[in-house]
Amino acid sequence: MSLKALANCTYSEMESLVKELGQPVFRAKQIMEWVFQHYELNPDRMLNLPLKLREDLKSKLVCMSSEIKESSKGGDKTTKLLISLFDDEAVEMVIIPSRERITFCLSTQVGCPVGCRFCASGEGGLVRNLEAHEIIEQLYHGIAHSGKFPDNIVFMGIGEGLLNFDNLADALGKMTEADYIGMSPRRVTISSSGYVPGIYRLIELGKPFILAISLHAVDDETRAEIIPGKLRYPIAEILQACDDYEKEIGRMVTFEYTMLAGINDSAGAAEKLAAMARKHHAKVNLIPYNETSEEFKRPKEIDIFDFRDILEKAGVTVMLRLEKGSKVKAACGQLRAQHIKKLKND
Ligand code: SAH
Ligand code: SF4
Repeated sequence: MSLKALANCTYSEMESLVKELGQPVFRAKQIMEWVFQHYELNPDRMLNLPLKLREDLKSKLVCMSSEIKESSKGGDKTTKLLISLFDDEAVEMVIIPSRERITFCLSTQVGCPVGCRFCASGEGGLVRNLEAHEIIEQLYHGIAHSGKFPDNIVFMGIGEGLLNFDNLADALGKMTEADYIGMSPRRVTISSSGYVPGIYRLIELGKPFILAISLHAVDDETRAEIIPGKLRYPIAEILQACDDYEKEIGRMVTFEYTMLAGINDSAGAAEKLAAMARKHHAKVNLIPYNETSEEFKRPKEIDIFDFRDILEKAGVTVMLRLEKGSKVKAACGQLRAQHIKKLKND
């Protein structure tokens, strides 16, 4: 795509465009207000602009490159949106309302190169990175669909965001800089499978994003059964990066732990995880496996509760969601996987 995308324009780019179109420069500010304060990417609805300018914008820019192809509601009021991209690829975003808050879960890549063995997103490897505007457009689709601006954004959809760092950082900038969307970075979570160089790049951004690390195991042997070797870092290096993150950014990290029966759900693992979480000042997010492959099983509910109790007794803050169709199931690439199957069968 050679045209600039509206969702990721800077003020200076918009000013140059407006000048090139023979319009007074104040029009740039009006357009940017539509885009970043009113989340409007359709020039036809930018009613304070002259008709000619609206038409020119449509021919000079990619105004909206993606569209909602499908939406499906989970049992717990989550809504998954399948978003189709300009090249007919697709990603997912998920809207997760809770009693007093609404969270959007966004994707960063088409597919994922990490290829965790339990995850539908990694099954076909990486197809391509999302551009910054494709990341931002997911937010706009979520707002249009729910009628609400999210209280929180979590990058827990398809892909490993830290492996698409430049585009993710660009999108994060537009979402959180005061001149653009201006959301608090404290309400944005970046989830990573532990790509250590990416964690240090995130530290360099210097903003108080929440870092969530998909740990899934307390020793490297068990972790190696779950995450293939190519992009997996040793737990000790990941923990060091987490300590550095807390020191530099001043925020506690979260450990995500996808619970797989017979693999990582023993009482011994819970005790080690509790010790690790305490030592590294981390909260723990337990995610009982949503079965997408035959290879792994979700632990029994009693085992999940026992595991949680061990962590809690050790004084660790634990989050656990049990509903089916909950946030992660909704976000782990199942809808896209279904979509690909459908395309293949057509
Ligand atoms: N690539 C990043 C972010 C996307 S995955 C990462 O791995 O952190 C977000 C979370 O969903 C991860 O913690 C991942 O382990 C979890 N996840 C993916 N598929 C899942 C499934 N089928 N059941 C439970 N958790 C899953
Ligand atoms: Fe990629 Fe995250 Fe899925 Fe692993 S869990 S394959 S890193 S999206």
